[in-house]
Amino acid sequence: MANESDVRYYKPKTKFSLDITDVQNFVYDMSRCIKCKGCSWVDHTYMPGTKFMTRCPSATKYEFDAYGAYGKMRIGHALAEGVLEWNEKALEVLYACTLCGACDVGCKRNLDLEIELSLESLRVKAVKDGIGPMPAHKKIADNIEKHHNMAAAPHKKRTDWIPEGITPSKKADVLYFAGCTASYVNKEIAQSTAKILKAANVDFMLMPDEWCCGNTLFSVGMIDEGKAQALRNVEAVRKTGAATLLTSCAECYRMWKVDYPKLLNIATDDLGFKVVHLVEYVDGMVKSGALKMKNTFETRMTYHDACSMSRLSDPWTPYEGNRGWMGCVEPRLKRRRGTGGIYAQPRDILKAIPGVDLLEMPRMRENAFCCGAGRGVKEAFPDLARSSAAHRLEEVKDIGAETLVTACPWCKNNFAQAVKAAGDDVQVLDISEVICASIESQA
Ligand code: SF4
Ligand code: SF4
Repeated sequence: MANESDVRYYKPKTKFSLDITDVQNFVYDMSRCIKCKGCSWVDHTYMPGTKFMTRCPSATKYEFDAYGAYGKMRIGHALAEGVLEWNEKALEVLYACTLCGACDVGCKRNLDLEIELSLESLRVKAVKDGIGPMPAHKKIADNIEKHHNMAAAPHKKRTDWIPEGITPSKKADVLYFAGCTASYVNKEIAQSTAKILKAANVDFMLMPDEWCCGNTLFSVGMIDEGKAQALRNVEAVRKTGAATLLTSCAECYRMWKVDYPKLLNIATDDLGFKVVHLVEYVDGMVKSGALKMKNTFETRMTYHDACSMSRLSDPWTPYEGNRGWMGCVEPRLKRRRGTGGIYAQPRDILKAIPGVDLLEMPRMRENAFCCGAGRGVKEAFPDLARSSAAHRLEEVKDIGAETLVTACPWCKNNFAQAVKAAGDDVQVLDISEVICASIESQA
C-alpha cells in the first residue's frame, strides 16, 4: 500500500509508468479527479442541446454518480489504497462500462489524467485479487481457450466465410485478419472485404491459423491470457513476412494497433508490420484512383464512429518517468487524446458514393456516443448494451437518417438488434457492405 505522504503530495521523482498491470501507477490520476463531470457531458463547444448531451453510456443508463468515471475513480482510488474492500456492487460498477474512452478524452480537455488506463488497471486488479471478471466473461475465456474463438464455434470452420471465386494467396504483403465476429457471425463483412480487395487487385493472404485477437480477455482484465494471445498472434504475423495487417473490425484494430503493443511493452511502430483498418486502405485506393465508387446509393446516411477505431486508436508508446510537483511528469509524456483516430477516411469514402447524402449526428468523432456492445458489456450487462444502442438510435432518427453505417461488427449487431426491438426501419450496414455495393460490378 502506498505511503500516505506519497499519495497526498507526490514528491518529485516518484516513479511513474503507464504499465496497467500495477494499479499503483494510476493512484495519482484517480486521486486527482475533481468531479467536474467533464467526462460525462459532451464538450460545451459542441453541446447540441439537452437531448444528446451525455457522453458516458454507463452514467446515462444508471444515473447514479458511482457509474460515471468520476464515481469509478473514487471507488478505484479507495480500492487501490486499501480503504475499501471489493464487494459485489464495486465490481458491478467497474465492469458496467464499455471502456469506450469518452471519459478519457473528455477529462483530457482540462486535465492530463489517465482515466481509460485507470479503468483498465482496476480490472487487472480485480482479476489479480480473484474477484473478477464477471461469470459471463469466464465463459468467453473458456471458449477462446478451447476453440480459439469467442462463440465456441468449430475452429475448423473459421475460414468458411471465404466467398466463391476468391482464393487468398499463400504469401502476400497484405494479411487480412478477419476476427471471430466476421468469421462466424457477420460473414458478410469478411466477404465484402475480400471482394473489395479483389476488385482493387490487392493480393492478400490470411493468417495460416487465425485465432481470436483476445479483445475480451484483455478488456476484462485477464492480462496474462491477453498477453499470451498477443505473443502468439504477433509472432505468427511476423513469420509470414506481411508488411500490412488489415482488419475490418474496430475492436481487432485497437487490439493489434494499441493493446498488443501495450501488453508486450513495445511501441506500435515496433510491431514489425503496419496495422490498418479497411477504411484507411480503401480511402487511399479511392483517392489514388485504384478504386472507383460508381454504383448509386440513394439514401440519407449517417456514420457512427466506433470507439476502438476513433478515440481509442492513437498509437501506443510505453512510458516510464518521474512524477514531480503539481503532478508534472518528466520526461515529457505525449498524451493520447483520441485525436489520431480514423475520422475523415470513412466520411470521405461515403461522400464519394453517388447519391449518398451524408448527415452528421450531433455527437460525432471524439464525442460519439458508444453503441454499448464492447469490452465485455454485451455479455455481462445486456441491458446496458441495449439501452446505449437504443439511445444512439434516437439520435440517428432525430437527424432524419435512413441508413446507419459503422465499421465494426460489434456496433452493427448491437444497432441491428436495437432497430428490431424498436420496430424501426433504419437500415444498419457495415461500411464494407456499402463500399462493396458501390463497386460490385468491378468485384
Ligand atoms: S472529467 Fe476527469 S476530473 Fe472531471 S470528473 Fe471526470 S474524471 Fe474527474
Ligand atoms: S469508459 Fe465509457 S462507459 Fe466507461 S466510464 Fe468512461 S465514458 Fe463511461
